[in-house]
Amino acid sequence: MPAPINRAGKRFGRLIAVSIAGRSGQGVLWLCRCDCGKNHIAVSNQLGKSINSCGCLRLENAAASNRTHGLTGSPEYRSWNHMKQRCLNPRNDRFSSYGGRGIYVCTAWMNFENFIRDMGPRPSMLHSIERKDNDGPYTPGNCIWGTRAEQAANKRKTVRVYNGGDTASLMSICRARNIRYSTVQMRISRGRWPIERAFNERIGNHNPIVIDMPNGDSVRLSEACRTLNLDYNTIRQRIRKLGWPISKALGFSSRTDTLSV
Ligand SMILES: [Zn+2]
Repeated sequence: MPAPINRAGKRFGRLIAVSIAGRSGQGVLWLCRCDCGKNHIAVSNQLGKSINSCGCLRLENAAASNRTHGLTGSPEYRSWNHMKQRCLNPRNDRFSSYGGRGIYVCTAWMNFENFIRDMGPRPSMLHSIERKDNDGPYTPGNCIWGTRAEQAANKRKTVRVYNGGDTASLMSICRARNIRYSTVQMRISRGRWPIERAFNERIGNHNPIVIDMPNGDSVRLSEACRTLNLDYNTIRQRIRKLGWPISKALGFSSRTDTLSV
């Protein structure tokens, strides 16, 4: 890996590079000091190009433009939009952890101008909206731009599980049930399994029989049997021991070979 370009002490618009702050997928990160007094972390090769301030410049320009807020498409706008989606759109894949368990966006923040006025510019690409009380709403008093989520995601994602009015960390439940944390965590974060299945599906089923669906999805035989109310062991034996094609084992004509689960 080549040595990173030394930018310490150099000026990029309102920013002065201070020190290397780490590395991201996009390259070396520099901690910078903005003329307005805020710190900002930016990708090295974006300094002086797309990044020239902590975000204060963009906000001032937007205010001066006097038309709309002028920030549609900005990182802050995207964060705001994602927040609303998580809380308000039942089809959002994270809704169950947010709107689905009562996390809401306060009325004032349904308006982006109010949101940006309260939150200010996002300090860096490493920051996201963080709620101080994880079970509390998106309100000015409960939210900051924080890096906890990203740091946690890099090391070990803290998953909290909602359990009849109470929440507990995934880690503590795994400990209590004597299940390997990494297995459950991977099932939830990569496989997007529902929590209960992630806990309850047996571990060590090394070569599961998988059915390829016409729509391109794949479904485990065990799951298909449950849905179709078929005896899993019987079907599995037909396939494993008798060598039947999956469709025949499931009782489908080998011609049609379709299945809706
Ligand atoms: Zn600034």
